[in-house]
Amino acid sequence: MIVRLSLGTRTVLVVFAVLLPLTAILGYLTYRSEKAQNLAAVIQDAADFGDAVDGVIHAAMLNEDPGSVAGFVERMEGPEEIVDIVIYNGRGNPAFSDPEARLSAQGTEVLRSREPAGAELIIGEDHAYRSFRPIEVGPECFRCHFDSEAISGVIQTDLSLAAGYSRLTALRNHFVAQSVVLGGSLGLVLWMMLSLTLARPLRALREGAQRITRGDLNARIEVRRRDEVGDVAQEFNLMAAELQRRIEGVEDAHEKLHSSIHRVAEALSSALDVKSIRQILLSESMAVADFEFGAIVLVDGGSFCLAPGEGPTTVEKGAKHGRTLRSLECHMGALAPMLSGVARARTLYRSADMGFETLEVPGEWETLVLVPMVAEGVSIGHLILASSKHVEMDLPRRRALEFLGTQGATAVVHSRLHEQAQEMAVTDGLTGLSDHRHFYERLEVEMARAARHGSPLSLILFDLDHFKEYNDSVGHRGGDQVLRRVAAILRATVREADVVARYGGEEFAVILPHTGPEEAARLADRLRASVESELFPQLEGSLGGRVTLSAGVASLSRGTSTVEALVEAADRSMYAAKSQGRNRVVSASDAAGAGALPSEG
Ligand code: GH3
Ligand code: MG
Ligand code: MG
Repeated sequence: MIVRLSLGTRTVLVVFAVLLPLTAILGYLTYRSEKAQNLAAVIQDAADFGDAVDGVIHAAMLNEDPGSVAGFVERMEGPEEIVDIVIYNGRGNPAFSDPEARLSAQGTEVLRSREPAGAELIIGEDHAYRSFRPIEVGPECFRCHFDSEAISGVIQTDLSLAAGYSRLTALRNHFVAQSVVLGGSLGLVLWMMLSLTLARPLRALREGAQRITRGDLNARIEVRRRDEVGDVAQEFNLMAAELQRRIEGVEDAHEKLHSSIHRVAEALSSALDVKSIRQILLSESMAVADFEFGAIVLVDGGSFCLAPGEGPTTVEKGAKHGRTLRSLECHMGALAPMLSGVARARTLYRSADMGFETLEVPGEWETLVLVPMVAEGVSIGHLILASSKHVEMDLPRRRALEFLGTQGATAVVHSRLHEQAQEMAVTDGLTGLSDHRHFYERLEVEMARAARHGSPLSLILFDLDHFKEYNDSVGHRGGDQVLRRVAAILRATVREADVVARYGGEEFAVILPHTGPEEAARLADRLRASVESELFPQLEGSLGGRVTLSAGVASLSRGTSTVEALVEAADRSMYAAKSQGRNRVVSASDAAGAGALPSEG
């Protein structure tokens, strides 16, 4: 089992493990020197006492009263400190008491050697101090002792050291207590200091980290110190700020992505023309990472670019990065097949992966992103985004662009289908020209525009001559083929802006915006001549393989400012052409004149 110890507890343990032995050693050393001094004092006391006893015994002996000496010795043994006093004569036998006692070897040595004094420290149970003192013989002693004896005996004094030792024990206890108190308080002070300098900031760090874990990204630590702990706190704050910045960035990107998805889904589902879809797709894709340039390149060759601050524009007009844009467009053709290969990989490519050199796209962009546009598994093109700055293609951005790529592709496909369906709804099934209804819609639009701009507009109505006979001769299917061919000739001869419609059975109409009566008459005649010169193999037998038509031309004027009036005028002219012999063109102005013709003819 692993016991979790707090930093404070560890500190206390370490401090005590180091400090207590230190103070104990210090205390022991002090105790030892104190003990030695005390012991010396005790011995000195014992020696002084022995001197005193000596002096008294001498004095008593000089009084020639051995009895008083014995009495004195007995009295001297009264106090606790004196364990025993024995006086030995010159032969080593006790002089007054203790008949069994014999002078110890050391005492005998003192006696023989006539040393002035000897002592023996006996550390026994009774902690006694024994001293031997030679009894000096002076002239005043010669009444009883022989003057030949330099020493006539030994006084052995046994003193108790118990009191001294108990003092030492007290001293030792004192030192032990002192070490514990000293070590303890030192440890306490150290612990408090460490706790203030380390544990408290660490706690603050932990609390800060816990707040961040709970999601409070505003958590910061107060930096009060200029040391390593302060550095750690400062680093923590920097880390928290960076974390906050990143998370806010991610949230922001998510928010952007969500609203973008919402907007795009809404817009793409309602915008059904390819142009608006491209515009929405581009502006939303560019907003994903503030791209400065965006382009949509479709596999079928269509391309569409958007540069900053501009609406949808062609590549040539993308002025800001003009050269680059043009260069990009130059490569669109070459890009398309390559991109369709990339599209199948459904991967996002950045400049580094893509390799500018291979594509020869000028390296003005730091980041080039290709987003495959894939609808129902089929690549329809690419979304190309570029930025002069480095763009981190993180997961949210990749997801957003992938979403836009697929949604955009689906929307483009849908809008194309829609356009096709619409075209089919206004197209004549046999000839592929605008049908009767669409003809009137377009005529209305074009007349309104012409009136707004004060520009000319003309209308030609054609009717094939004697078509009933063709039908009768080659059958309806053969007649249909002729109608289809005539329609193709008309379509191929007029300008792109002109509207060619099948007006009725074998009647056609051509709306000519920006065209006055003379020019319209010339064009009508050119059309008539084109049809006349065409050889229809299926008609070759009885009909000579030729078809002619009669045309009536009317132009916008004060009298023909409404759709009805204009059509009627053209119709009148056409009938005039018929009545004048067919295979000809009659203009409304001529027809007005021709109105008088019947009287002439
Ligand atoms: P003209 O106009 O010169 O007076 O003589 P026409 O024979 O052309 O007379 P009209 O214009 O009145 O006749 C129209 C004929 O065109 C009738 C019909 O057989 C033929 N027609 C009309 N619609 C179609 C069509 O869709 N297919 C075919 N094959 N014939 C058609
Ligand atoms: Mg007709
Ligand atoms: Mg006809």
